[in-house]
Amino acid sequence: MMLANYHTHTVRCKHAKGTEREYIEAAIKEGFKTLGFSDHTPQPYPKGFTSGIRMDMDQIGDYTDTLVKLKEEYKDQIQILIGYEVEYTLKYFDALLKELRQYPLDYIIQGQHFVKDEVEGIYVGRPNESEEKLKEYVDFTIEGMKTGLFTYLAHPDLFNFAGPDDIYQKHMRRIFEASLDLNIPLEVNFLGFIEGRHYPSKRFFELTKEYNPHIVLGCDAHAPEQLKQAEHVPGMSEFLKECNIKVTNNNIVTIRNCK
Ligand SMILES: [Zn+2]
Ligand SMILES: [Zn+2]
Repeated sequence: MMLANYHTHTVRCKHAKGTEREYIEAAIKEGFKTLGFSDHTPQPYPKGFTSGIRMDMDQIGDYTDTLVKLKEEYKDQIQILIGYEVEYTLKYFDALLKELRQYPLDYIIQGQHFVKDEVEGIYVGRPNESEEKLKEYVDFTIEGMKTGLFTYLAHPDLFNFAGPDDIYQKHMRRIFEASLDLNIPLEVNFLGFIEGRHYPSKRFFELTKEYNPHIVLGCDAHAPEQLKQAEHVPGMSEFLKECNIKVTNNNIVTIRNCK
């Protein structure tokens, strides 16, 4: 039984649907006791560059105001946390954190969709045969983990490597090692599973047998009905079993201070 889910989006990211209230009601119905909102963070990108997959910087106030009100309203039924799914970038990370900290903020999770960033880099979810790029993704992800600010690493297996498993695993092992060294949980992402994407990837998560990292399950809900217990996601229980993944502490993780 999952009592917590920390990976939830809102309409502000331009590719999710439903109101915050609908997400909260769905979470309560599904038995969650903690619901963390972690919408795609806005980014302080250069003027003229607008991302199509995240809120704008001037929406932070609306996002946090909405959640602060709902947090209070629902406090007897469910704990609401205010967070973001944040890209680690060299250029924008410090400025972003400075801005986010001006508003209510409980946690951030790391979601590394680009290397090195959205403005100048590549989206890592597209099939890619380059070992060099894979290595760069791993290096970059670990650099982000080392900031110590992220509560966990979302979809660590987002990089869509089109090459051989042994090369893939050689590099991905380093994410497991970092997870253990830095005590940062790795996420099994339900959305990728539901949508039949290349992640969560068997060749990634079978390494859990060897490393036994702390695993967290994340709904990555982009719609209220995607807030589901693992046993309500068809095939998920089998996937977890095959990779020998055990969920500890009812999926409740320790929130890292990011302030
Ligand atoms: Zn998204
Ligand atoms: Zn997400």
